[in-house]
Amino acid sequence: MTYDYDLFVIGAGSGGIAAARRAAQYGAKVAIAEFKDLGGTCVNRGCIPKKMMVYASHFPDLFEDAQGFGWSPVQSTLDWKKMITGVHKELERLNGVYQNMLDKASVELFRGYAKFLDPHTLEIGDRKVTADKILIAVGGYPVKPDIPGMEYAITSDEMFLLEEQPKRLLIMGGGYIGVEFACIMNGLGSDVTQIIRNDLILRGFDDDIRAEIQQGMQKHGVRMLMITDPPIIEKTAEGLKVTLGGKHNETIIVDTILAATGRKPKLKNLGIENAGVEINNGAIAVDQYSQTSQENIFAVGDCTDRMNLTPVAINEGRAFADTQFGGKSRTMAYDNIPTAVFSTPEAATVGLTEAQAREQYAEAVKVYRAKFKPTYHSLSGRDERIMMKLVVEEDTEKVLGAHMVGEQAAEIIQGVAIAIKMGATKKDFDATVGLHPSIAEEFVTMR
Ligand code: NDP
Repeated sequence: MTYDYDLFVIGAGSGGIAAARRAAQYGAKVAIAEFKDLGGTCVNRGCIPKKMMVYASHFPDLFEDAQGFGWSPVQSTLDWKKMITGVHKELERLNGVYQNMLDKASVELFRGYAKFLDPHTLEIGDRKVTADKILIAVGGYPVKPDIPGMEYAITSDEMFLLEEQPKRLLIMGGGYIGVEFACIMNGLGSDVTQIIRNDLILRGFDDDIRAEIQQGMQKHGVRMLMITDPPIIEKTAEGLKVTLGGKHNETIIVDTILAATGRKPKLKNLGIENAGVEINNGAIAVDQYSQTSQENIFAVGDCTDRMNLTPVAINEGRAFADTQFGGKSRTMAYDNIPTAVFSTPEAATVGLTEAQAREQYAEAVKVYRAKFKPTYHSLSGRDERIMMKLVVEEDTEKVLGAHMVGEQAAEIIQGVAIAIKMGATKKDFDATVGLHPSIAEEFVTMR
């Protein structure tokens, strides 16, 4: 049986593009379908525009800090439209970069929505194509809770499209997206109330880190309320009226409500039922080689709901291409994946949390902590601390996890992650000479 393509990729996001380019490099005839912008969530509605807005949100603090260093006060206001326009201009440029990358790799791009007709045939608009192997890399979408009034709430997708800055913002959810947007918008000058349904934000992170970020956010001005009952939302002439239940029992008026209550794999209208692919809990079920229950169909990234991070999707895509087209059998390793929350204060982490380590190593773990004021803040006058934590296996002294809250956490943890991935011990950390004066040096001097 001959097919139009060796590989057809559905979805030109981080995972899909990485897989398509790598397979094409091995000589495969590859096509990719995308009905929206190239680059997927990360480039267009996620990491990249978010990070640009994170940078924008830091300036008011910097202007204030500068006075401690002798600078005269700065009177500055945010031009929201200018910021959003700048962000979108950069995204357009990035789309061009992705288009070039696909062209250079000789990957054919289909602009449209691909739908399975059978396990080897796809329909895109009025075209039908066949492929030996098909990779599903369609990503996910934000979901809102099913409660009355949610039709007035927006999701992270729309946060990047707001024509005006909401002066009063309510955020539901204490995950990555809720936390990051609460900090961004607070930094940009909005009045932010965040409602969370647990005592601490960021479930799954180390508890000390969760508490430290939460306190830091509150200190920076985010109003955080722990509420388990769903709010009652009504549209009024003054704005969106939100009645909060539980012990808070109050009514607030806001301009915008952001539902940051999780994401789901985007499998609707994909004709997945024609592909004979098994679905588990709303996500495409795959094995360690990203192979689905249908032999010739594979899936990577958020639509498989493994670890929903861009570098993970890219790695899964490349491992798939190496295995299927490069003759190198390779799986993705899910241990010691570093991740950051671009909150204010920033946080980053790699490896096991203290609770996970205590469970896996029957309490035979040692924990090293440091909390200090960085040199920068000795003059800025800001009451800001850095917190670092190492989780170490008692017997072998192997470092199992590193966690940090404070400026440059992401940049610092990326380097520490290499050591942890290589199996470094506390002795190795101690034997490393510190880089002075830096924040990062504390990781090699902890007692
Ligand atoms: P998360 O699943 O991380 O968090 C969802 C939050 O919403 C949780 O706090 C959850 O509470 C809460 N929640 C869920 N349902 C309800 C409800 N009905 N009412 C009130 N609260 C609710 O999702 P996000 O949307 O924040 O992020 C999605 C994914 O995107 C993440 O898993 C992450 O992988 C990725 N991402 C990564 C980033 C990064 O690397 N910096 C940045 C942004 C996103 P509870 O904990 O109780 O379930």
